[in-house]
Amino acid sequence: MEIFSFSRLSKYEDCPAGFYRHYCLKVNEPPTLPLVNGKGVHSVIEAAMRLNKKDMLFFKVMSKMVVDNAPLVIDPEEIFQLTYQNMVLAEFHPDNQIEQHLQLPLLPDDPLSPVIQMYIDLNRDEGGYVQLVDWKTNHKSYHPTETKQLGLYSWALYQKYNKPVRSKLVFLRTRETPEHEFTKSEMEEAREWALTLALEIQDKLYQVQHGADHRELFPTRPGGACRYCGYSHECVNGELPVPGEIKTYEEAQALGGEIIRLESALDNMKRLMKGYVETCGPVAVEGNRQFIMQESSYWKWPPKALKAAFDRITGENKDPFEYFSLTATQAGKLGWNEEVIKKLGAQKKNKSPALKHVQLPEGKAAGLSS
Ligand code: SF4
Repeated sequence: MEIFSFSRLSKYEDCPAGFYRHYCLKVNEPPTLPLVNGKGVHSVIEAAMRLNKKDMLFFKVMSKMVVDNAPLVIDPEEIFQLTYQNMVLAEFHPDNQIEQHLQLPLLPDDPLSPVIQMYIDLNRDEGGYVQLVDWKTNHKSYHPTETKQLGLYSWALYQKYNKPVRSKLVFLRTRETPEHEFTKSEMEEAREWALTLALEIQDKLYQVQHGADHRELFPTRPGGACRYCGYSHECVNGELPVPGEIKTYEEAQALGGEIIRLESALDNMKRLMKGYVETCGPVAVEGNRQFIMQESSYWKWPPKALKAAFDRITGENKDPFEYFSLTATQAGKLGWNEEVIKKLGAQKKNKSPALKHVQLPEGKAAGLSS
């Protein structure tokens, strides 16, 4: 492996086994929802900026298009809400470089140096400095210095333009835009980080080619990264068995049993962890995650408050019925059956089929062969 990227290096840092499986064994990694959402959002913004389209209709149509082509079910309204907002529209500029591809050696004067490549969401030469922008769909924001990504991108842009780089993360959900201008030593630190990991990976791959066991050199690292890992269903007891798909009914049965065991195991493990955290406090785990006890709350709307909300929405010249809805449970409480609901003009929408496990009818217990 000669060409690296921030995502490759951070995947290796998060879990060497996941990295090896993805990039070396090239086992197809099922996409996760955050990944698909993120790609959809980037595609809509990229298309809008390339075509210089700032109108709501274009964003609506593009959101629908990316959803239609996505490998998982995602919500076009969510993509639209994330992309069609002032923080994005404010970045339209004729000098923008969109999704610029940069590739450069991590050791500039060494012909054998590992190479880093990147696609930068947006950058533009502002005269005295270069503005770098990276779109994020995370639920929680963080500062540009908390990962090496923007430090590395700033270093690459500095090599290209020889100007200071102001970097900005645009968190499309939380609507925060933390910024940072990386100093030369911070950029160097990011380059060093990438170089050290790239050389470590190259060395390990060389050892594997010469007979070393990849499971020892690229071990699993259960922790925060598992939340977004497409291999988590195959990673049993922290080990990744032979890559795969379900090939026979018996394998499907075994997998079904394992799903039920894991669901139960997860409930039990969470119960144990809850007991510990309640008594002893937060527990930090690999990958910058921690278990805590967190209070949650929601708004309850008694009839009087609902009426006040209704009046206020009307007073703001908006249609209250775009915000109020009747659930199936509420319709049931009113004693309305399907026929009544249909006559009122409600439309029945079918959700995509969801996987469930249910009780088999009496006397139909499944054997282990079909
Ligand atoms: S589930 Fe976790 S430990 Fe297993 S491969 Fe994925 S990231 Fe690594």
